[in-house]
Amino acid sequence: MPPFLIDTHTHLDFDRYDNDRDEVIRRAAEAFVAGMLTIGVDYPSSLAAVRLAEEYEQIYAAVGVHPHDANAMDDEQFENLCRLLEHPQVVAVGEVGLDYHYDYSPRDVQRRVFRRFLDVAWEMQKPLIIHTREADEDMFSILREKSRSGWRGVFHCFSSDEAAARKVLDFGFHISFTGNITFKNSRSVPVMKNVPIEKMLVETDCPFMAPEPYRGRRNEPAYVVHVAGKIAKEKELSFDTVAQITTQNAIRLFNLPL
Ligand SMILES: [Zn+2]
Repeated sequence: MPPFLIDTHTHLDFDRYDNDRDEVIRRAAEAFVAGMLTIGVDYPSSLAAVRLAEEYEQIYAAVGVHPHDANAMDDEQFENLCRLLEHPQVVAVGEVGLDYHYDYSPRDVQRRVFRRFLDVAWEMQKPLIIHTREADEDMFSILREKSRSGWRGVFHCFSSDEAAARKVLDFGFHISFTGNITFKNSRSVPVMKNVPIEKMLVETDCPFMAPEPYRGRRNEPAYVVHVAGKIAKEKELSFDTVAQITTQNAIRLFNLPL
């Protein structure tokens, strides 16, 4: 029996799964994906993530507001999200962070919302799932400002450079890679090769970022095997080693009852 994987970043509540969600979740189990985290991007999707975690034993939820949606979050929603964080199936705060590539929300609003969630994650002692794009300078300065000993989290869908990876590791955070490392000439491969496997997680970020050979199609958790396979190949480790260690990392980071 091959070892199990955990897909640490999915968006299974998205409507692209409305017609076949059960099938997608069943295919994940057949591909030895023993656990999945489904990640909120705003209040409605966080609520939907919690509902999925209630419905399926192998699904856990994260609750947060994506930087794209920061502008739409009001105080009432923030309080509702904080209440959701008390739910036993909610294992992380996320996704939260900064995205200066699209700038869908004004940058000062993104920073303010991110800071609020950093404080809440600390109060609730939950790990963080961080999204960052083209915002490394502000990201690290806010993390320095809020830094606390023993805080935990992961930078998901990592696409920054080597120097940023070192900073993330210095803060004690994990780094998660997605299907983009399977793309031809991916700039993230050399970065990934230097991240210790003990600090690494795997994810699909589905429905986005389908790995080769599915690039361009709808992604799903079963495909996380291609991400783990690419890591094994590039780091010259066995697939089983990559699966076992990244699964242990996820269980410990998110305190999963697996
Ligand atoms: Zn995401």
